[in-house]
Amino acid sequence: MSGSAVRVQGLWKRFGQQVAVGGIDLELPAGKFIGLVGPNGAGKTTTLSMVTGLLRPDQGSVEVVGHDVWRDPAEVKARIGVLPEGLRLFERLSGRELLGYTGRLRGLPGAEVDKRAAQLLDVLDLSGAQHKLVVDYSTGMRKKIGLAAALLHNPEVLFLDEPFEGVDPVSAQTIRGVLERYTASGATVVFSSHVMELVESLCDWVAVLAAGRIRATGTLAEVRGEAASLQEAFLELVGAGGRTAGADLDWLGGGAR
Ligand code: ATP
Repeated sequence: MSGSAVRVQGLWKRFGQQVAVGGIDLELPAGKFIGLVGPNGAGKTTTLSMVTGLLRPDQGSVEVVGHDVWRDPAEVKARIGVLPEGLRLFERLSGRELLGYTGRLRGLPGAEVDKRAAQLLDVLDLSGAQHKLVVDYSTGMRKKIGLAAALLHNPEVLFLDEPFEGVDPVSAQTIRGVLERYTASGATVVFSSHVMELVESLCDWVAVLAAGRIRATGTLAEVRGEAASLQEAFLELVGAGGRTAGADLDWLGGGAR
């Protein structure tokens, strides 16, 4: 795959007086592991929701693998997988049933759904819990079954909002392995995070978002520039460089009331 996986032009979203996304232009290369990073409230979730057709922009356009998300939603949705933040799942289905249902919704033949579901459950270390109801899954298990559902139809682009939030290191390593295998085959992953070490170790391309605007885009090396780490470059870019944590909290600690 070559060219752009995602092309965003002049994207805006306001919630009342609050500008969540303030005029974003962005081109995400295909076949890369892409990190969308930014501090809390930067607009990552709002951007990903508009890019994946979950939230209508006030202004601007989004193309995913050459199709306009809002004019051609069915074409786009057939080609993408999404693991949204605060994932809502069908709680009264087992993990296995959830994948069966998702596969049928995606129009896959039953035998193919069964094969892929069994493989995904195995790779994600969920085979032992496949007959348990999703409502009884832990946070990490929910992320993994959500990821399996998002990958089942073999999408060209996978969007993940904070996929490692609340996930233990063992499950994180499993998820990571699946995603690395997926991008190695030429597919694109776009994921949001504010954990810089994670982005630095996983991504080959990064977009930095702060206060609803793009502050930097490019390869990891380009965005890092002269800085010693992505964390340091990020703090400079979002304007937090040199701020002393807790400088005004002179009452905190020391036992005095
Ligand atoms: P975090 O890392 O904390 O999840 P984020 O980068 O994903 O943050 P968003 O959730 O996109 O940020 O929020 C961007 C801004 O838009 C914030 O100021 C937030 O309060 C505001 N916002 C987001 N969704 C809504 C909503 N439905 N109604 C009102 N304001 C919203």
